[in-house]
Amino acid sequence: MNDTLSNLRLRVPQLWVNPVLAPVDSVLPHLPVQYDHMVDADNRLRRAGQLFTTLFPDAELDNGLIESPLLKVDSLKKVLGCSGNLYIKADDSLPVAGSVKARGGVYEVLLHAEQIALQAGLIAEGDALTGLASEACRRHFEDYTISVGSTGNLGLSIGIMASALGFACVVHMSADAKEWKKKRLRDHGVTVVEHAGDYASAVERGRLQSAADAKGIFIDDENSLPLFLGYSVAALRLKDQLTVAGIAVDKQNPLMVYIPCGVGGAPGGICFGLKHVFGDAVHCFFAEPLASPCMLLALASAQKEFSSVYDIGLDNKTDADGLAVAAASPLVSSLVRQLVSGIVTISDDDLYRHVYRLKITEGLEIEPSAAAGFNGPHFLLHSEQGNAYLRQCGIDHSATRMTHILWTTGGSFVPEEERRRFEARGKRLLTE
Ligand SMILES: *Cc1c(COP(=O)(O)O)cnc(C)c1O
Repeated sequence: MNDTLSNLRLRVPQLWVNPVLAPVDSVLPHLPVQYDHMVDADNRLRRAGQLFTTLFPDAELDNGLIESPLLKVDSLKKVLGCSGNLYIKADDSLPVAGSVKARGGVYEVLLHAEQIALQAGLIAEGDALTGLASEACRRHFEDYTISVGSTGNLGLSIGIMASALGFACVVHMSADAKEWKKKRLRDHGVTVVEHAGDYASAVERGRLQSAADAKGIFIDDENSLPLFLGYSVAALRLKDQLTVAGIAVDKQNPLMVYIPCGVGGAPGGICFGLKHVFGDAVHCFFAEPLASPCMLLALASAQKEFSSVYDIGLDNKTDADGLAVAAASPLVSSLVRQLVSGIVTISDDDLYRHVYRLKITEGLEIEPSAAAGFNGPHFLLHSEQGNAYLRQCGIDHSATRMTHILWTTGGSFVPEEERRRFEARGKRLLTE
């Protein structure tokens, strides 16, 4: 812990390996959420396929599914010097919200809408969820206000889904939120409240305001099982995509996944799902900016002596706006404590370098947050900590064929001008 902590304080990028990672058989049965909960979430989203097609006629849905492609990225692989297979799970292009938040955010709003409509007798149990788009439902939903605190992307996801169904919607944005994300929401008729403080204070203000409203529904990103389960379904979808790609996942063919982490819900839900689907053959690494390593701090300081990254002298100021979170979700950190293999930290300069690299090698355009995991394979394969981890898992470099997946979590909605700025900065840094 001492080295880990001094690296955090000194802002030295690192791979932290989780000392309490345990076999799935000894962890998953004891968690308060189970495989069936994830399947239930997946089924509900599938039942909503026709609804999504109705609500979002312009979105490119796969049979009503809000899903992203799995891309083989051999040119990037060469540049990163990574052995084995390298893929990108391209949630930057998730329809409807343009980020990983589409699965969780859309799912939780759907769940509330279904419950409210059932209670009001507007739909019956087992009905197709298309009914939620009826005029009667819309008029009923108008009386309810859904609110959420966000650094940007969760607000987009919730705001777009809530307003599409007719709910009033208030998004409390932290100071980190980008102007264009606020504008996009206002264009959807969502009320955006700007806060001078950080993500946690925006969430707190939203929570208080919503509690004062009898028809207020607060989506609590710091403490939400529905969000977590909505995110988890990505694992079931990935399983099918790997099968189609002909990629086996087992002891001889381990799967290494690198997922950007903010408050923890998205990477936590995905990790939970992947562990159910692939067991101990999948190894989940989270990725955080040097200024906001909140999950690393929560997991590495088991005695909870630090409540946020401010307590160790960090400022939580990063261009990875989606990851600018000073304190991890206590719910998620407790759920993944023994499931996550490790956490890598990354500088903002490296985020920009990777954004540019990905653009020139594969033509893909992502936001800086989405590149947080890109140093992961290098750390795992070439650092002392990484090699110790592989040895400890009995993974022999020469005898196994690893598949690495970089989870690119956001970017397709980023305005052109902003993208050009990201790429110019990355190019400058790479050629310096
Ligand atoms: C929100 C977000 C994440 C991380 O999700 P959390 O649930 O906050 O951990 C990663 N990448 C992007 C682009 C995001 O918007």
